[in-house]
Amino acid sequence: MSGMIRTVLIANRGEIVCRIVATCRAMGIRTVTVFAADDRDLPHAMAGDVNCLLAGDTLAATYLNIAQLVDIAKKTGADAIHPGYGFLSENAGFAEAMTNAGLIFIGPPASVISRMGDKAESRKLCESIGVPVVPGYHGDNQDATFLAKQAVTIGFPVLIKAAAGGGGKGMRVVEREQDVASALLSARSEAENAFGNGHLLMEKYLVKPRHIEVQVFSDTHGTHLHLFERDCSIQRRHQKIIEESPAPGLAEDTRKRLYEAALKITSHIGYVGAGTVEFIFDSRGEFYFLEMNTRLQVEHPVTEMVTGLDLVRMQIEVAEGKKLAITQADIKLKGHAVEARLYAEDTAKGFLPAPGKLTHFSLPHLPGVRCENGYRSDVTVSSRYDPMLAKIAAYGANRHEAVQSLLNALLQSCVGGVVTNRAFLMQVLINDAFADGKVSTDFINEHKDALFASLPADDDTAKLIAAYLLMGKAAAPQETPGGGSEYSAWTHDKLAGFR
Ligand code: ADP
Repeated sequence: MSGMIRTVLIANRGEIVCRIVATCRAMGIRTVTVFAADDRDLPHAMAGDVNCLLAGDTLAATYLNIAQLVDIAKKTGADAIHPGYGFLSENAGFAEAMTNAGLIFIGPPASVISRMGDKAESRKLCESIGVPVVPGYHGDNQDATFLAKQAVTIGFPVLIKAAAGGGGKGMRVVEREQDVASALLSARSEAENAFGNGHLLMEKYLVKPRHIEVQVFSDTHGTHLHLFERDCSIQRRHQKIIEESPAPGLAEDTRKRLYEAALKITSHIGYVGAGTVEFIFDSRGEFYFLEMNTRLQVEHPVTEMVTGLDLVRMQIEVAEGKKLAITQADIKLKGHAVEARLYAEDTAKGFLPAPGKLTHFSLPHLPGVRCENGYRSDVTVSSRYDPMLAKIAAYGANRHEAVQSLLNALLQSCVGGVVTNRAFLMQVLINDAFADGKVSTDFINEHKDALFASLPADDDTAKLIAAYLLMGKAAAPQETPGGGSEYSAWTHDKLAGFR
């Protein structure tokens, strides 16, 4: 299904809705947003040209309700649906339902989604075309005794994963043979609950790996491009919190081989639209295919910043059936961009989500900084949804400048009423190992003493302020209206003390 798109329904919530609206406005496309009753005060619920209340009060009845979304699309005259990320974005049934309803699904065809959405299937495909996958078992036999034997063959530690997985759900690291059976049971039930599919696979659990992914783009005319890589190694609970492009310290020949591997996959499967091929690097620098995400990625802003391209615009043009207007040679990587995900979560309590009412919420407007925001003051961060408040991405001529700029932006971000990971993110950014580009998915564990050190008292805070002042841009921080925010809890006092 293709053709000129005039109205896009955005089937999502939070910052990504506002992000997609921005591009639609620039393209002269009308937008329809949807929101659940408990989201009625959020920015996305008023971001569109038409904003529709979703009936129902569960996730399944609202944002995940395909029939209701089709109905709203018809009533509002939408001719296309943008699924954003998460929710229904990688649901082949959703893509199919849209096409059947005569709507353009802004994403790959349902057949491609189902082929790449299953981690076991996509791994088999990679093997068949010579793209390396992490050693492990991704066959059909799901018998517990058989899988336990496979774990021994793979060698411990082993990582159990859900084939339908995402968001780290259904994942278990197993260190010893005697723990395999119980880990399989709990992973399977978690996967069944989250994805309605308990199929599991097992992989060698790599030690201190890096997560590096390639942004790919394809059109319906057989053009397959890459938009360079993003390093997303800074993670907690196997989930990204800081992402950057390009990946620091990656050798040129490795980089080239990485892009080749990603394009080998997209051209083999006849991919369409925006996608991300994720790879994991072992400590020797060898890389293996991890999974492919067949949608726009949370961290796409860093790619947009270093390439100057608008990925949502490209998605829409591809969905309209247009040929990509650029060639590989046209795409240049310039400078460096780093993004941090600001979450309402308690880093000291195992990064536990910390929902609550935002008494104050303001993000800075700075040159070279993008704040993709899903919240505002006086609204409640609900435990029902992902607690990401905003993404802050900063651009610089080089990595150091981008990081400094991000630090500055985080310093000037003001959140009151809920506990956030803001100070923790800053601790990562000022860490010497991070500055040296020594990143791995074990980074937070490896540097936990420095990162979790009591923020108001320790030297790193002073160092942070010093780094900030050295930029010569020190603006007086605003006192938080209503007080009591974590901002004034340490930054304000420290900054005052420094002058
Ligand atoms: P999900 O789809 O649930 O996010 P992924 O397969 O993308 O799961 O993996 C998420 C993260 O888990 C990776 O970025 C990495 O940190 C960790 N991980 C995945 N596979 C391995 C592995 N074989 N060894 C070590 N860490 C891994």
